[in-house]
Order: sequence, then structure tokens, then C-alpha cells
Amino acid sequence: VVAVEGIEGEERMEETGVLEGSDNIGYFIEKKLRVWCRQSNGVWVSGTIHSTSGEESFVSLANGNVVKVSTCHLFPANPEILDGVDDLLHLSYLNEPTVFHNLKYRYSRDMIYSKAGPILIAVNPFKDVQINGKDIVTTYKQKATDKPHVFAIAENAYNEMMNDGVNQSLMISGESGAGKTETAKFAVQYLAALGGGNVGIECQILQTSCILEAFGNSKTSMNDNSSRFGKLIEIHFTAAGKICGSKIRTCKHQSRVVQLAAGERSYHIFYQLCAGAPQALRERLNLKMAKEYNYLAQSDCLVINGVDDAQRFLKFMETLDIFQISKGEQDQAFAMLAAVLWLGNISFHAIDYENHVEASNDEALINAARLIGCESHELKEALSARRIQTEEGNIVEKFTMSQAIDTRDALAKFIYASLFDWLVEQINNLLEVGKQHTGWSISILDIYGFESFKKNSFEQFCINYANERLQQHFNRHVFKLEQEEYELDGIDGVKVDFADNQECLDLFEKKPIGLLSLLDEDLHSPAANDATLANKLKQNLNGMACFKGDKGRVFGVRHFAGEVLYDTNDFLKKNQDSLNPELIELLSSCNGQLPQLFAIKMLNQTLEPATSLDSPNQSVSAKFKGKLFKLMQQLEKTKPHFICCIKPNRKQLPGMYEEDLVSQQLRCSGVLEAVRMSRSGYPTRMTHQEFADRYGFLLLETNESPDPLSISVAVLKQFNILPGMYQIGYTKLYLRIGLEMNFTYYGKKS
Ligand code: ATP
Ligand code: MG
Repeated sequence: VVAVEGIEGEERMEETGVLEGSDNIGYFIEKKLRVWCRQSNGVWVSGTIHSTSGEESFVSLANGNVVKVSTCHLFPANPEILDGVDDLLHLSYLNEPTVFHNLKYRYSRDMIYSKAGPILIAVNPFKDVQINGKDIVTTYKQKATDKPHVFAIAENAYNEMMNDGVNQSLMISGESGAGKTETAKFAVQYLAALGGGNVGIECQILQTSCILEAFGNSKTSMNDNSSRFGKLIEIHFTAAGKICGSKIRTCKHQSRVVQLAAGERSYHIFYQLCAGAPQALRERLNLKMAKEYNYLAQSDCLVINGVDDAQRFLKFMETLDIFQISKGEQDQAFAMLAAVLWLGNISFHAIDYENHVEASNDEALINAARLIGCESHELKEALSARRIQTEEGNIVEKFTMSQAIDTRDALAKFIYASLFDWLVEQINNLLEVGKQHTGWSISILDIYGFESFKKNSFEQFCINYANERLQQHFNRHVFKLEQEEYELDGIDGVKVDFADNQECLDLFEKKPIGLLSLLDEDLHSPAANDATLANKLKQNLNGMACFKGDKGRVFGVRHFAGEVLYDTNDFLKKNQDSLNPELIELLSSCNGQLPQLFAIKMLNQTLEPATSLDSPNQSVSAKFKGKLFKLMQQLEKTKPHFICCIKPNRKQLPGMYEEDLVSQQLRCSGVLEAVRMSRSGYPTRMTHQEFADRYGFLLLETNESPDPLSISVAVLKQFNILPGMYQIGYTKLYLRIGLEMNFTYYGKKS
């Protein structure tokens, strides 16, 4: 009986080979079976065929109405018994409406997790669905359920690490607001529960998010708690499977400190500090409310609905204690934050008729200088002019207004970036105690999701580039490696089709004619501006498939997740990250420990060869690319497990499921292609030896040649397994989905 099911499955695969096609619909029309059709308003409904004439069909809906639809917009529906199946792989008919309906069916019943073959889909519930508590952890630990869950993925990764001795990774992807960061936290929570109890490090790992999110997350128009940095948490285990250490790597850039889009906030920590600093600290920092600071007030968005910044600051301070950051160090860190805010309030006034300016001697300058630990006249000089070496010796070049503002902003960004790095270093120093670990680890990657706004700038440019890299990692592991494995093992004719994004990556990375190279070319060119940059990009890249020229300073990129228009306004400025030597000198000679430390680090990097990824003379995008490559290199050494988060609506509300939004994410994520691949390919594979060991005992007659390959072939023959159901490679046997269950079944019977 079981074998017959397999054969049916085989036929079904032929029928539904094309994912979005409505092929086979003729059979459905003839038999008047249930179909899906898209109504003129774009909404999918299901019904049964009433009648057909030519290119048009009439479909009876459940409410008794009959609608006229173009036959090419009809798709086979699954029998109702398949409503809400756990794994999309099990749908008889796999097309956009059936996948969509299945996820919606589950979502409306708070079943937010589903499987899509090897991938976990997590639809953001925007409410607490009570499926992440301790009891649920225990259920998955005891393997008492096989329902899809992020815990099940973490459990799998852990078991594979323990059994195979291979490092694992959980790769979490999805648009901004889709739930990556929350999902990553659940994964860490589960691993902490699995591997905890040794040195208590698991509790600290769980607490890192409080610090990292305060410093690295912001409110954007897409997500009130949007990650503006990429994060890889590597959790180390002992041979006994206990957590013994952890390391956090980050990848980010800081333009948000000084510039905000309307309706968005800067990093949470600034608002938390302003709202929640205790009186004594306020006085020491001469702290005002957030609205008094230009950097924060510029976007007219100071609070987040339902979030108490003051209370979050108290929690933040407690967490610093957990990480053994002393009160003295905490005070210095807060002083650096306040210095950044005061820097933003420093104003400049004209001093001559040549548009030269000077920083004003006001409260902002005095406070910023005091907090950094230098004299205010020193800060004033460093922000108002710089020395230039000429053949005649050093001359002083006074700044224009825009030069002065850029210098001030560069200092603010530098201090903030260095402070973030310093904090991550403190956390890592404490967590990396298990340096003697087995070498096995599970890494969890949570980055900023793909973004597409009406107006997109340099920040989106970098973020979307990173997502493009991540998508390639997904493609490589899910599709390319699959194809390569077949070919290496001597199996031809299994074609793995997928939407490759190599062209888009080439558009960014190709040298010397690619987006990143062309952008960097202009870094030190005085004649270049945002408009000339846009023109240059269009002249050089117009022929490339993923590039699209647009009006004025705008250009478009066809990303895997959709087309995005970028405005080059401020691109050049934001891509520049260099700090004047005067400012580095100022910081290294001041009497604050942290600024000194930051300056020394910067100077040490300057001494490194220019090819170094962290070379300070590099552009922001080059540094970003370098860090991204390091993260990806790290991940290449691991066995990946993919989690794809889906954002069900734009309003961040529970119980709301927007069709176009979900469909677009499903189409772009590669998830549907992965399901199709798993169904049409041979997802179960084992070496001839493994198969022979496992099922050789089923043979009724003893095999003459006892080698594993002939035993395996004999087993397949004995049960009349159709040739299309398996492939024999040089080293492994490849089985169609579900086929191994047959042998398990025969095994139990015998
Ligand atoms: P970004 O790319 O902007 O960082 P993200 O994918 O990391 O976005 P999250 O910050 O994880 O998105 O999720 C956005 C919000 O959605 C959360 O602040 C939370 O309110 C809600 N949310 C996400 N996942 C869950 C979940 N599993 N249960 C309940 N609420 C969730
Ligand atoms: Mg996030």
C-alpha cells in the first residue's frame, strides 16, 4: 500500500512540475474539481468549475456566487483534507494560491511555523502566541512532537553537531519586520536550555540582546525595533554538549547617528539615556531631554508607542552589571553617548567673507569637550580647521560650513562606532571563556532585512547588498550544492532550477566596473558630486541586466526581492569615513580613557598594510563589504539550516494577512523553488553501506556478492521499486521523498 502511495506521488510531481503554471487544469475542469482563481481585485478564492467556454471559465464559489475568470488564472486546489498541512512538501498541488492558503490557514490558527521541505517558514504573529515557553522547550527536547518550530530546527542543528562533529548555523532571513531578531532569540533560548547548566554562560548569552539592541536597533517606518546591524552569535560547546563560551560578530555602519529620515529614530540607547538616566548621572552629563538634541529632534519622532524608554534604560544598566562592566566604565560609556549628542548641537558661525566658519563657544561645545576630556578651545580648533602639508611646510586650511559640519559628524559617528565595538569586545571577553572548547559551535545569523522605501539611500544600498549575499548563500546551499552533489556522484539529468542572483552580485562587486568600485573611485575626487556619480553609474552600468537608469540622481537595482530605486543624494558623503588626523590627535591626548583607547585603535589600524580589510582609509562600503565577507567566510565552514521569516502585514498588527505582501515575499525568498526541488529531486540519500546495513536484512535470499552496492540494488529489486524512484550514485543511493518510509514499514512488518 505504501509503495502505491509513492507511485501516486510520482505522478503528482509530473503534473505539478511547474510551480506557478496552471497546467493540468484541463483535468480539473473536466472533472469539475475544486480550483483557485484570482478575482479582479487580486484576492484568491476557491470554488468549483461551473462551466467553461473557450478561454473563460465560470466558477461557483462557496457563497453561491458564480464568477467569470480567465481559464489561465485557474489553479488546481488541494483536497480539503490537506488544509493546513505542516509541510508544504505534502501538498498535492503546489502553486501560489495553495501555498498562500496553507500558510494563511495555519496563521489564522496561530500555527506560525511551517516547513517548506528543508526550510522553516515563520510568519510573524505580532502577538504572543504562547508557543515558546519552558514547557514547549521540554516537549522539543524530549522529541515529543514533530510540529515545525524554531526549537525543532535548533534541536536538529544541535544533534547534527553532536553526531557528526560539524559546526552548524541557523540562517535567518526575511524582510525588515518579518521577525528575524525575535526568531534568533528563540533559537538562542532553546540552545541555552539544551546546553546550559555548565558555567551559567547561557544566561549571559540571552542577556546580550538587551545591550546589542539598545545600541544597534532603531525605530524605522517598517519596524519599531529594526536591527541596523548584522549579528552572528557563535555558541561554543564542550564534547559533552554543554555551552562553554560564545562570540559575537557584528557588521554595521553608523550614518544613522547624525542623519535620520522623517518618522524614524536614531539608536534606542540615546532616547533611553535621555529618558531614564538617574539624577546624579544627568547632572554629571548635563543631560537634557531627547528633544533638545539636534541629532534626535531632526526627524520629529522621539517616542515609540507602548515603549517606556526610561524603564528600558534601567534594565540596560542592570545588564551592564551582568557583563561585569564596572561603574567607572559605565560612566565613561554614558559620557561618550552624551558627548555624541552634544556634538550634534555644536553650531558654527562665519568668521570672514570667504565663507570660513568657526565653532561657537556655547554650552554644546563646552559640554562636548568636557565629556570627551579635552579643553573646549582644542575641540573648537579641531572642528574649525585642519593642517595641510605643502612643500613650503604646514599650512592651516579653515573650514567652510559644510566641511565643519562633516568633520563634527564624522567625530560623532566615530565615537559611537568605537563605543559599540568596545561594548561588543567587553561582552566577548566575558563570554569567550571557553577557549578550550571542542571547536564545535552553532552560529545564529540575524541581519537587517531587505528594505525598499519610497526614497532609498546609502543605508538601504548597503543593507540590500548584504541581503543579496545572504540570498546567494541560501541559493548555493539549497540549490547549487544539490546539483553539484548529483553531478559529482555521477548522476545526470537531475536539473535543479532556481533564480540565481549572481548577476545582481556582479553588479555590486565587479571590478573595476561595478557599483562599489565606481562609488569608491569618487571618494577622493574633488570634482565628483552626487549628480556626477549618478551619471557615471548610468554610463557604465546601463547594459547590465540588474541595473536600471532613472531620472536625475536616481538609479535602480533589480534585487532578488524586487526592484529598488536609490537616490545618490549624500552617497559620497556617507561613503566617507575618514577622521582628520587633528581629531585623532585630540582624542589620543585627552584625559578620557575611552577616547584614548578609540584613538589608539584607529592609529594601530592606520599602521596596518593598506590592504587590510579594516584599513581606516577605506570607504564605508569597502569596510562594510570586508566585514560581510568575514561573516560569510565564517558561515561557509558550517552546515546551514534556513529559517525564512514572513511579514504578514505592513501595519505590524496581529491577525492581519495581506495577500500581495505575503505572495511577493514567498516568490522572492526562493522557498517555493526549494519545495519544488525537494519534491522533484531525491531528498533522502545515504551511502551504499548505510543502506545495506539498514535494510540488507530484508532480503529474502542471501546475496551472492556481499558488497554494499549489490545488496542495496537487490533490496530495491526485491520490492519492485520503480526506476524513477531512486538513483544510484558512485557513493550514495538517492531516494524520492517518502520512499525510505516504505523500507521502514517493511522492516517493522518482517
Ligand atoms: P529588521 O530587519 O528590521 O531588524 P526583523 O526581521 O528582525 O526586522 P523583528 O524585530 O524580529 O523583525 O520583529 C518585529 C516585531 O514583530 C517584533 O518587535 C515583535 O513585536 C514582533 N514579532 C516578531 N516575531 C514574533 C514572534 N515570534 N512572536 C511575537 N511577536 C513577534
Ligand atoms: Mg532585526
